[in-house]
Amino acid sequence: MELKFFGGAQEVGRSAILLKDDRNLMLDFGIKLDHKTEYPTSIPKIDALVISHAHLDHSGFSPGIYNEVSVPAFGTMPTLSLSKLLLDDALNIAKKQHTQPKFHKRQIGAFANKYTSLEYGATTGFGDFDITLYDAGHITGSAITLVEKQHSKGNRRVLYTGDFKLSQQTLHKGAQIVESDVMITESTYALKKHPDRNSVISNLVAGIKETLSEGGTALLPVFAVGRSQEILSILYKNGLTGSTFVDGMAKKATTITLNYPRFISDPKLLENATNETTWIGEKNERRNALDGPSIIVTTSGMLNGGPVLDYITKINKNSKIFLTGYQVEGTNGRTLIEKGYITIDGEKRKISTPVSIHDLSAHADMDDILNYVKKSSPNKVICVHGDSNSAISLADRLTVEGFEAFAPKIGDTINID
Ligand SMILES: [Zn+2]
Ligand SMILES: [Zn+2]
Repeated sequence: MELKFFGGAQEVGRSAILLKDDRNLMLDFGIKLDHKTEYPTSIPKIDALVISHAHLDHSGFSPGIYNEVSVPAFGTMPTLSLSKLLLDDALNIAKKQHTQPKFHKRQIGAFANKYTSLEYGATTGFGDFDITLYDAGHITGSAITLVEKQHSKGNRRVLYTGDFKLSQQTLHKGAQIVESDVMITESTYALKKHPDRNSVISNLVAGIKETLSEGGTALLPVFAVGRSQEILSILYKNGLTGSTFVDGMAKKATTITLNYPRFISDPKLLENATNETTWIGEKNERRNALDGPSIIVTTSGMLNGGPVLDYITKINKNSKIFLTGYQVEGTNGRTLIEKGYITIDGEKRKISTPVSIHDLSAHADMDDILNYVKKSSPNKVICVHGDSNSAISLADRLTVEGFEAFAPKIGDTINID
């Protein structure tokens, strides 16, 4: 067996890892949303596809496979529903920006038609492979994939973490530990130690309360899938109810999430939170949300589009911006933090509203990754989904710990027999 990397190697984005054997299994097929959209380097011969979770850096180019070929796809049910939402949106954005997307709507349909949804813990056979998904604790429906194969030297267990979180979030339990022979792990935060989540939440809540008491708007730019549900639950749990508005795709994503209560640890909490929320449907309703004191939870998470750009230029002078997600280099979120400006329609806009950062990461940090690897106890560890610094540092650290570890580059092939 071999692994070949078409994306997501020494970078975050466009995850695409091919497990090559008698049959070729593609683990994720995503896009990288940078200044421009980047795709996996090519589309090799693929016999089946496994999607770890809905985020576009894992699912974003899956329709691209369904041009002439028609192969089975595996993942959880929420992953299909949430990916469809994000893929449709990606097509709409491309249309608005007059850019040519690399797939058509009918290919999203073909992908959905060939999709088999799996429950956590249930095994399905594909050729010589047995595929089992486990809870990754990252977002609703996110999965750690175990591929098992009978091998002349005994059973071979290949584990792909996708994005995972080892400790609990408000709506998700931590990732399930699965033993393996070869482990492919994300390394997004391999150089980081996340601060204590409870104190992050108390700081965030205190900051929002202060903003409200001054009659301002607390503006929370969020990713539609995952973070917006988590934030709504946190706000509700901490008594911040009655003045919360949700705009953009966060609404649809929350509705879909509520359709899969068994994939979240506290569905009642999310349901109560959404009942206390005012949904903004039309542009002209935004004025109500801007009438402080108010909390606005809206897309996009890195301020590269969506209603947040409208709000950010209109919130009153007592308002504050609360960032809770990773801001990729080159995005408005990053220039806002580092240089105090964002770019709207090609025009630089200085933003004087104070910004604070709250690390509510849905990813494992260095300690978590090391912990997971030790418990999974593989012979080989492959570090992906991290910039070159993070992936290489993780591989180095694991080597010191006695593992055979690699941080492959795009195009590399690793023998895992
Ligand atoms: Zn993700
Ligand atoms: Zn990811």
